[in-house]
Amino acid sequence: MDRGGLVIKPHHLLDIFKLYGKGVEKFVPDERYNHDFYRVGNRVIENRVRAVEFTCGNDDICRPCVCLKQGVCGDRFVYRGVEHNKNSYNEELDRRLIDRLGLEADREYEFTDIIDLLNGNLSLDLIGFVWSDKSCEENESRYEDTRRGIEKYLLRHGG
Ligand code: SF4
Repeated sequence: MDRGGLVIKPHHLLDIFKLYGKGVEKFVPDERYNHDFYRVGNRVIENRVRAVEFTCGNDDICRPCVCLKQGVCGDRFVYRGVEHNKNSYNEELDRRLIDRLGLEADREYEFTDIIDLLNGNLSLDLIGFVWSDKSCEENESRYEDTRRGIEKYLLRHGG
């Protein structure tokens, strides 16, 4: 089994566990963006990642994405009537996660150590700090789904 390394934005990793906790058992390709979320997501939930490096820049998910231009995400989105630049929005999420979890960018970690770290440190307080523009209800359901996803992963693959 291929269990190589992975470069990922920390919020992308939490998104994978959130969707897994919500009931996704197999990620499928996204035809609009053509990114590799499905490929990376399936590696994560099938325990096919040995080592992981975190980044606030583009990651293994972004590389084939139609929005990635000269290494920068050019996507924009509207939330509560305000248009956001996804690159700076995501960089802020990832910086907060890296700081709060005591991680270092561009350093290799054993994936099992990261699972332990997330399992021990995931809290509603952390989610509310990182996604500070979201409502309490949105953050509560993000927290519960992500927590469920990590527990499901641990049940399936062991701690
Ligand atoms: S380039 Fe932007 S839209 Fe594409 S996967 Fe990365 S963050 Fe998402």
